[in-house]
Amino acid sequence: MSEKLTGDFRKFMDKSFLGAWDLNDGKDTILTIDHVQRDEVKNDRGTERKMTLHFVENGYKPMICNTTNAKAISKAHGSTKVEDWEKKKIALYKATINAFGQTTECIRVREYAPKTDEIYCEVCGELITDVTVDGKTHKAKVIANRALSKFGKYMCYDCASAAKAEQEAEA
Ligand SMILES: [Zn+2]
Repeated sequence: MSEKLTGDFRKFMDKSFLGAWDLNDGKDTILTIDHVQRDEVKNDRGTERKMTLHFVENGYKPMICNTTNAKAISKAHGSTKVEDWEKKKIALYKATINAFGQTTECIRVREYAPKTDEIYCEVCGELITDVTVDGKTHKAKVIANRALSKFGKYMCYDCASAAKAEQEAEA
């Protein structure tokens, strides 16, 4: 199947780890840490072993966790122990850093935990909100729970609609 692409080209290259290009512009991406491990990372200096965060949500590559982000997670969840980070949610955002006259984008973790009473879409990572269609309001919780029972994961209205359409097309 061929597919027309839009967005940052780095999204489509065969990268092993999450990059700033994988995140939404101007909106936090909320992900749940599954576990922390050490992975081999190839860079200009050869191969290095780095700490990486692995996520519960499908479709998200592991993220290399630098000291700044590790400190932010420690602050958000009140522990420097990586095993205490498991199943905890973190908010990622795109930051711009200026170094040696060059501007580069990087991933940063917010120093506070995302609100837990809010449910985030496990497909696109966005907050699930109430949606009004043809004058009928669907509550965020209802949308999320309906997707959970139908597709086995929390989904926003748009992602659930897309999954439903896909399912119907296959049927
Ligand atoms: Zn979604």
